[in-house]
Amino acid sequence: MECSKCPPHSFSHHEGSLHCGCEKNYFRAEGDPASMACTRPPSAPRNVISSINETSVILDWSWPEDAGGRRDITFTVLCKRCRGVAANGSNSGTQRCEPCRSNVRFLPRAAGLHNTTVTVGDLLAHTNYTFEIEALNGVSSFAPKMRQYAAVTITTNQAAPSPVTVIRKEKTSRNSVSLSWQEPERPNGIILDYEIKYYEKEEQETSYTILRARGCNVTLNGLKSNTAYLLQIRARTAAGYGASSPSFQFETSPDSAFSISSESSQVVLIAISSAVAIILLTVLLYILIGRFCCRSKSKHPDEKRLHFGNGHLRLPGIRTYVDPHTYEDPSQAVHEFAKELDASCIAIDKVVGAGEFGEVCSGRLKLPSKKEICVAIKTLKGGYTDKQRRDFLAEASIMGQFDHPNIIRLEGVVTRSKPVMIVTEYMENGSLDSFLRKHDAQFTGIQLVGMLRGIASGMKYLSDMGYVHRDLAARNILVNSNLVCKVSDFGLSRVLEDDPEAAYTTRGGKIPIRWTAPEAIAYRKFTSASDAWSYGIVLWEVMSYGERPYWEMSNQDVIKAVDEGYRLPPPMDCPATLYQLMLDCWQKERNNRPKFEQIVSILDKLIRNPGSLKITANTTSRPANLLLDRSSSEVPSMGTMGDWMDGMRTLPCKEAFSGVSYSSCDTLAKTSTEVVLTEVHVTPATCPEWEPSMGITTL
Ligand code: AMP
Repeated sequence: MECSKCPPHSFSHHEGSLHCGCEKNYFRAEGDPASMACTRPPSAPRNVISSINETSVILDWSWPEDAGGRRDITFTVLCKRCRGVAANGSNSGTQRCEPCRSNVRFLPRAAGLHNTTVTVGDLLAHTNYTFEIEALNGVSSFAPKMRQYAAVTITTNQAAPSPVTVIRKEKTSRNSVSLSWQEPERPNGIILDYEIKYYEKEEQETSYTILRARGCNVTLNGLKSNTAYLLQIRARTAAGYGASSPSFQFETSPDSAFSISSESSQVVLIAISSAVAIILLTVLLYILIGRFCCRSKSKHPDEKRLHFGNGHLRLPGIRTYVDPHTYEDPSQAVHEFAKELDASCIAIDKVVGAGEFGEVCSGRLKLPSKKEICVAIKTLKGGYTDKQRRDFLAEASIMGQFDHPNIIRLEGVVTRSKPVMIVTEYMENGSLDSFLRKHDAQFTGIQLVGMLRGIASGMKYLSDMGYVHRDLAARNILVNSNLVCKVSDFGLSRVLEDDPEAAYTTRGGKIPIRWTAPEAIAYRKFTSASDAWSYGIVLWEVMSYGERPYWEMSNQDVIKAVDEGYRLPPPMDCPATLYQLMLDCWQKERNNRPKFEQIVSILDKLIRNPGSLKITANTTSRPANLLLDRSSSEVPSMGTMGDWMDGMRTLPCKEAFSGVSYSSCDTLAKTSTEVVLTEVHVTPATCPEWEPSMGITTL
């Protein structure tokens, strides 16, 4: 028999031994040949990234650094639902976690994963979860104490309400029925209204009627007697409609027992025709009066009836922001969009800030049959005028229309007792600018991009709703204990009156010059595109950890420099892609600035490719001449993505790049080769023009 050395991580004390035992913490799995090295459990997976989409999350991670000497690695994901406060997004001791409910879905599965990604669905909205991802190999079971996992903590976003499940019949007659129902178990937001859809059972949805109701009850009139109907209800919140309830059947009462004799049938026919004519006239009158009332009163009537004969539904589903100043009576707007709270449910703890109208306090809100939550309480100081009260509450009327994880959430208002208060969710880390200054250089690139992604996502939501913020700046972003950033400070002209950064322009308006787009300064053209310019400044503030844009330059000098084409230089160690995004946001031509949707998608791609953050834009934190001349900066302007694509010579190349959401060629020029190649699947054969080494400027 031939002798050989013991395989790695095994040994034998005797010469000529038939078996080599494994070193400490090394093992042989069943079926491993004796000639094979002893192996150990793998180290933990690395770089876990989560992408949350409403109530599902995609988890991605990297292969463990040490595979333990084996190739049979699989991954297992453990889901925990956590309550309490996590410090800086990590799973700290102040959190209480329990295993997730069994209905949480894992795609493709939770255990035995061969790939480094999993999708987890059917989570609860607005809930903290921790996922522990463990790498296992054939010997993991021998050393449970050596097993390591990587953890990531997330908070799910908004979701549509859960279905209405309990419907009760209160009263039935020949032609009507009164129904009531219970609010869905998980409303996931304030229920704006309910949609009630009903139809004759026999007609099977070929013709149905839709009603909207504000409360949890409705009376359906004009039904056929002695007829079976089916009905479904669904609730609507700012997140949209929830799933419909299961079909609920009811029958109207039969006609009273009398038969129409042939002689009297003509009389009855005439009577019915007259009744129908009267009803039609009444309905016509009702519609006319209704229209008149709607115009003069509110845009949101409590109940709307829509009838569809062909089963085709056309409901105005897209929400748009309603300017509270369009209400004749602004207090109507407050109560339309904000919940009135009883002051006895609020406990004030301490003062945390000063607002224009009074102090901002932290405290607790305990609503009946709800858990106590931490809140911020803005108060209106005594001696206010009617206008001040209106302006103060306008912020609540605006905030109350929004429901998004990156927009500060309104809990309600107190208007029926004094002091008048606006109650919002509490943001433990206060405003973003001071938070960043306090934690200078303490965050990873991914953490900063995560914060920026949140702000962009909140701004996308606002622009989708048609709301222009006008005062987007790091000081108006609040940060919670999980580092989630939320856009705050809503109002109309008030916002700018309130902002100490706002200065009067020659045209008389008060504008935060350093954050505002040139066209908004010059002729008050405030749009989502001017918000995108401000977003670029916020991006710069974040990457420079709360530095003041344009430092000590005067407002006049800033206006002049920007007008001449100068732009802020990249902050120290700023990834080139992010600096390029800033420059894109600061395009003079507002239509060339990226939309918030594109910004979100660019940041998502960076999060998925953390390597792309390693290429930094080379500039010192503060160049001698303060600003960079765009025409001579090392990131040249190249126009829009479309311009560049139009310049391409071959069609396959053009097609290869279409559908990729880089905000401009500049961004693409600065994007790493690997990113481009994986995103757009370009090969030298399909796209001869694309040659990473030569750079896009040669195209
Ligand atoms: P504002 O009047 O909204 O500018 O608020 C003034 C200050 O109060 C802010 O700069 C924050 O420091 C603090 N503040 C406002 N709202 C909140 C909140 N929801 N949570 C924590 N602090 C807040």
